[in-house]
Amino acid sequence: MKVHHLNCGTMCPVAAHWLNDESHLVCHCLLIETSEGLVLIETGFGLEDLRSPVQRLGWLSTKLLGAKFDEAETAIRQVEALGFSADDVRHIIPTHLDLDHAGGLSDFPKATVHTFATEYHAAMHPGWFDKTRYRSRQWAHQPKWEIYKLSGETWFDFSCVRQLKGLPPEILMVPLVGHSQGHCGIAIDSDKGWLFHCGDAYFHHNEVHTPEGVGTRLMELFQTVVQDNGTMRHYNQQRLRELAAEQQGKVHVFCSHDPSEFQAFTNTTANDTTN
Ligand SMILES: [Zn+2]
Repeated sequence: MKVHHLNCGTMCPVAAHWLNDESHLVCHCLLIETSEGLVLIETGFGLEDLRSPVQRLGWLSTKLLGAKFDEAETAIRQVEALGFSADDVRHIIPTHLDLDHAGGLSDFPKATVHTFATEYHAAMHPGWFDKTRYRSRQWAHQPKWEIYKLSGETWFDFSCVRQLKGLPPEILMVPLVGHSQGHCGIAIDSDKGWLFHCGDAYFHHNEVHTPEGVGTRLMELFQTVVQDNGTMRHYNQQRLRELAAEQQGKVHVFCSHDPSEFQAFTNTTANDTTN
């Protein structure tokens, strides 16, 4: 399987220089060429988000996120630049359905979207506060959903779902709740070891890749404000620290928004890909 690392949304939020050394965030997505067609992990922002940001994302989020809204960064334009079309993307697995992860769903209307039942129900029936994160316009095209519950299988010390419907067995969903109700990581058994996309389970590389597990104060404050369950978020970050340390070189752990992690993949692998 060939894996392309794509940034599908650069953001320069309020006080970005206090978030990380790079003063911006990325939306780290993966495009995987499989025997079952293209699989997209995460979607970042989509074309409709760029055209009507306030209607799609809400006024407050549009202001706070500081998204660059560059059409060339959308997943659909990057898929096309690689010589494929929207219909070639058969499956999408978002780590969760927040507005900066689900924006591109509508650019691939024929793709099946895979998610955990708890995330699906949280997004389809949001309370007042959750309506700022889950934006129903992003799935108004009514995609085909595949909804999963845990089935007792394991991957390292984590529970997981293997054999996602229509997908090759090398792609697993691993629950990492805390940031949102049904948040998951996606593990991919690539030729260069396991890739483990952890979505928004953490935001700063130091939270997982140092023994202290401390990122920046502003990043921690942001995560605390938007979290669904702080106890589970910190518990899962601890487990990710242990996994990254114990399986160094075998499991490559990374998150959605850290630019240095994204650069590490795109700088060390030719043409922004890993095989
Ligand atoms: Zn996010």
